[in-house]
Amino acid sequence: MDKWDYSDFWKETKLQIEKEISALDNSLWFSNISYVSSKEKLITLSVNSDFVKEQVVLKFNALILDKLLQLSGSKIEVEYIIAPADNSSRTELDSSEIIEEDLNKQKIREPRRDLQLSYSYTFENFVIGDNNSFAVNACVAISKNPGKTYNPCLLYGGVGLGKTHLIQAIGNSLNKTNKDLKIIYATAENFTNEFIQKIKNNKMQDFKKKYRNVDVLLLDDIHFLQNKVSTQEELFHTFNALYDYNKQMVFTCDRPVSELHNLTDRLRSRFTRGLTVNLQPPEYETRVAILHKKLEVTNKKLDDDILEFVCHRISTNVRDLEAGLMKLIAYSDLFNKKLTLSKAKELLEDLFLDPIQDDISIDKIQKVVSDFYNLSQNDLRSKKRTKAIVLPRQVAMYITREITEYSTSEIGLEFGGRDHTTVMHAIQRVKSKIVTEPSLEAIIKKLIKDIKSNNGAK
Ligand code: ADP
Ligand code: MG
Repeated sequence: MDKWDYSDFWKETKLQIEKEISALDNSLWFSNISYVSSKEKLITLSVNSDFVKEQVVLKFNALILDKLLQLSGSKIEVEYIIAPADNSSRTELDSSEIIEEDLNKQKIREPRRDLQLSYSYTFENFVIGDNNSFAVNACVAISKNPGKTYNPCLLYGGVGLGKTHLIQAIGNSLNKTNKDLKIIYATAENFTNEFIQKIKNNKMQDFKKKYRNVDVLLLDDIHFLQNKVSTQEELFHTFNALYDYNKQMVFTCDRPVSELHNLTDRLRSRFTRGLTVNLQPPEYETRVAILHKKLEVTNKKLDDDILEFVCHRISTNVRDLEAGLMKLIAYSDLFNKKLTLSKAKELLEDLFLDPIQDDISIDKIQKVVSDFYNLSQNDLRSKKRTKAIVLPRQVAMYITREITEYSTSEIGLEFGGRDHTTVMHAIQRVKSKIVTEPSLEAIIKKLIKDIKSNNGAK
């Protein structure tokens, strides 16, 4: 037996969590998790789709990690892989074919794991529309001719628009056509963490060897590198090493590189040395096509009028669109009932009652808040600690945390380079002030409304 076998810990974790969560959460999401394997300090679990993975991570990951820590007494990480549910068309196969089929399935499931690529992020599963056709064509070209056509390639655009899907599709496609190619997919966050870890353990040579000897480097979410001085430095050298040998690099970023803060100029210029492509939110027709595709892939059905309603209702990005669809499917699966349009409306109303608007910028928030308090935006971004500025700045930080997905570290950066504990402190201050000063709460509500209502107008 394996030295690192955490299956019993997992069993117990599962039992305990099942008792703590609602039956609905359990049947919809949690019960879909299966144990796959363990290695040192890591458990691999599988779920049957990206939808489920996203929900599981969001809802239970913290709980799972916590339980594992309590039970085992040491920190065990968890990774999730996607293993689609079996289609039981086996009856037509004879036994040797069953074995063959099983082996194939395992092959599909297993080798990608070290590549960290999600199984379903392929070009075939990606719907092309006016908003993304340029990006898709570039990515397909890269996967046919890595290192030769567009190098590096930078994809940028807001959250949920398919950056991760496309960059991984390049990896999946190359992995299929050319098994010998050394491909690394990593998020900039993983890259950073691994870098720090290797420095700590005096293993920098390993790190260099790993990243400077690949044929294809796929680095997701480079906005994470803001402020990470030594990681940037390392990536700069990695870049040069790979570039000199015509090794393919693809990067993604959630905004134009010119808008990143605290990024060295030399790295910034390298990110944009090759081809830069922008992803836009999909138009209505593309949204409909995307949902049709999702239904096809998951083998589900939805009436046309409901599907059209979802696409009208949700226009922000594909991730929200998928979440909406998922909610409807979960409902009809769970209650085994045909969904009516009015029920669909009700369900989505609830889901997007107070949506996190991904397209709200900190810049916008600072403008609205500084206008209201008769300050300049620079005051909020400054280090000044005069009384007239401190509260508005705290309010702006609080609002940013409430209505965007920026982390406290990212927020700190935009407010005079403060660190995340200062931001947390500011948020706490505002929270307690709200309790004693209802007028402040009213002001904040108004500000949020203003920020949301003229969002985009700038
Ligand atoms: P990003 O990395 O830009 O935040 P993702 O690549 O994670 O976005 O996309 C969010 C979800 O939307 C994923 O499940 C992805 O498969 C799906 N998606 C995005 N664009 C498309 C598209 N054009 N066709 C099919 N699925 C898409
Ligand atoms: Mg992404």
